[in-house]
Amino acid sequence: MARRASADLRPVNAEQIVATPLLIDGRATRRGQFGLALGRDAQGMKVLQVDGLDTLKRTFGKLPITTVDAICPRPMNAHTHLDLSTYPHLRGDFAHFIAAMAKYRREHPQARGLAAASSGLGRLVSRAVAAVGDIVARDAVMVAELQRSPLAGVAYREVVCTEQAAAVPTLAALMQRLQAWRPMQRPGGPRVGLSPQSPYLVCKDLLRQMARLSITEHVPLQIHVAESPSELAFFQTGSGSLAQALSASGFRVPPSPASLGFQCDPALTPIRYLADIGFLDAAPTLVHCVNVTDEDIQIIAEHRCPVITCTRSNANLQCGVFPWKKFEQAGVSVALATDSVASAHDIEIWHELDASLACHGPGLDLATALEWLTVGASRALGLAAMSIEVGCRLDDLTLFSRRPLVA
Ligand SMILES: [Zn+2]
Repeated sequence: MARRASADLRPVNAEQIVATPLLIDGRATRRGQFGLALGRDAQGMKVLQVDGLDTLKRTFGKLPITTVDAICPRPMNAHTHLDLSTYPHLRGDFAHFIAAMAKYRREHPQARGLAAASSGLGRLVSRAVAAVGDIVARDAVMVAELQRSPLAGVAYREVVCTEQAAAVPTLAALMQRLQAWRPMQRPGGPRVGLSPQSPYLVCKDLLRQMARLSITEHVPLQIHVAESPSELAFFQTGSGSLAQALSASGFRVPPSPASLGFQCDPALTPIRYLADIGFLDAAPTLVHCVNVTDEDIQIIAEHRCPVITCTRSNANLQCGVFPWKKFEQAGVSVALATDSVASAHDIEIWHELDASLACHGPGLDLATALEWLTVGASRALGLAAMSIEVGCRLDDLTLFSRRPLVA
């Protein structure tokens, strides 16, 4: 089945040439008059030839021609929280969101679990998403995804540890789980990863140990960082709206600079902090990075950390606008993802693309946004990027069009 960006979705099930001015895959983004010749075999539709449009017309002159705006691999959602899929869409600024999430969690302790994760996964599968980076808060969800998820990518166990004194036992428990979970990995299914929730919800010693574990055991890491302006204030002064929200969120040890093991400094940023303690040496995937300095971007580039941006979540939580151009100029690999329904309303990757194009204006072209959803997402998840070549199944491709496709 072929896919397009928004409401209209029709299968392309007849032999034809699909022409496009934009062909994106793991090798390059090519602009011009390209096309695919599509044919059929016992398994369905497949690519017979990838070439310039004139060549295809000469070779397959009798085939009808359909024109689309772009051809690329299937999209990936490199950062979401499937087990939040039954949460409400929470509005308000970031500190308000933290407090509202804590309240909802207290009032609905069973909401974040298997049923929600299964519902979210089903949503992604129905939208032909190829892979997912899912933040998993329950061990039962991790086991279920490792055993049954049809999607590739990474299931990252979320880690929260707000006191230095708990770093050693928390790490020991994590290593035990990894030993149990890694043998459950299947070809085509998710790998096991770890997600220290953020630099303000995981203490310094555990962040350091997790980076070492990632390097020695090849465990993928993903962390929320530099999301809101209030996070910057937390590292620089230990106060502000995030600090207030965290202190009232019901943690046994409320996170503070003292409990987490760092010293506030007016020049400190969350990125600088993660670099200073060695966490970035593991080249973790960094989620958000909205509130960053030019030096932060340079640090991220030097550590070769992929970055994931979630446009709608940032807008909804009043975090600011991701400075994507600066990241691009620094050579940082960027992916686009939805985050959860709680902050983004839904986990529809094409809605995220539309919102990103609208948010960033004409400076962000379709090619770059589609690269974020495909090759950028594959880098963020440590997957090989797909090449579009002879023999590819149509099921593995996106025929992107803002117009309905005619079968
Ligand atoms: Zn998130």
